[in-house]
Amino acid sequence: MESGLSSATVSNVVSDLINDGVVAEAGLVDSDGGRPRTLIQVRGEFGHVVGVDIGETHVQIGLFDYTLGTLATATYSVAATRLEPEPVVGLVLAGVAEVVAKAGVDAGGLLGIGVGVPGAVQVAGRELVYAPTLGWSAVPLADMLRRDLPAPVYIDNCARTLGQAEMWRGAGRGARRAIVALLGVGVGAAVATASEPFRGMAGLTSTTSEWGHTVINVDGRPCRCGSRGCLEAYVGAEAVLDDYLALPDARPFGSEGTEARLAELVARAEGDGGAAQVLGRTAEYLGIGIANLINLLSPDRIVLSGWVGETMGAAILPAVRETVRRHALSYMYGQVRIELGQLGQEAVALGAATLPVVQVLASGGSLRA
Ligand SMILES: [Zn+2]
Repeated sequence: MESGLSSATVSNVVSDLINDGVVAEAGLVDSDGGRPRTLIQVRGEFGHVVGVDIGETHVQIGLFDYTLGTLATATYSVAATRLEPEPVVGLVLAGVAEVVAKAGVDAGGLLGIGVGVPGAVQVAGRELVYAPTLGWSAVPLADMLRRDLPAPVYIDNCARTLGQAEMWRGAGRGARRAIVALLGVGVGAAVATASEPFRGMAGLTSTTSEWGHTVINVDGRPCRCGSRGCLEAYVGAEAVLDDYLALPDARPFGSEGTEARLAELVARAEGDGGAAQVLGRTAEYLGIGIANLINLLSPDRIVLSGWVGETMGAAILPAVRETVRRHALSYMYGQVRIELGQLGQEAVALGAATLPVVQVLASGGSLRA
């Protein structure tokens, strides 16, 4: 068993979880001629968790039940540049108050609040956030939130938590090794590997990569990381909009904000040759980035997630698949499926909400870490 736990230990952990009301037995299934196995189901009514998505275009707060069913969300648009930590903390506090009020839940009874950030979280006594794209260096965001939030706060990279959510509830289910791409203004990826005994649950391990800053073009466009030719400089939301506006026959957008404009571009691609051409080129760059990942890591599933995946994914998926087919090694392409994320606009918030769920499951149902 890959967990390194004996089956007796697993039984003890599960029985603790049942006694604490976290999970319930959900019947027996045959196990290839051996003793029937007991199916375990997490109980949604065990408690509520909050997930926070701190993105470059929005801060979104979601309230979820314990099986990660969505109960309420609050979304605040923010400018794409210079997001300062203090105003972000203010938005998170407002959002938590808003979602618990909407759902009629007692804030004091929350099991935990997970926060996904677009950067690295380093733990040196306390968690410090390094997010160059936000201009954050060693920001003690979790501690800042703990001052005023009524529940334990957990923080991690948003691509990693999104990967976890797509493996649990989304398009990564059943995969052996999935790469979940977080497409937004920035571009990231998590490599998620399922392992026994809780396939796709507590046995999940994942790592993130700075996929957006792998180079796909020699002497290419300058990237905000300081390098040139990075994937993000071609498929990040701002880059795609700039591509369109640089066309000689581009029409100005009617809407404000990166998210609304990208939705407008996708809608326009139906009848506007320029917009269709930009989406086609974006699909090609993205497909090359994905083919490189496949040749490096040999996954069996690629999931296009994040708000750009949600907005643009369906329009570009066939062209992405075709580009990947041309560039990935054929035997590796033959074993991988490329799918759209299934978690909708609150995917990243839902991913962050997996942090307190993992904490409670890992501690055998205890409510405090
Ligand atoms: Zn870069």
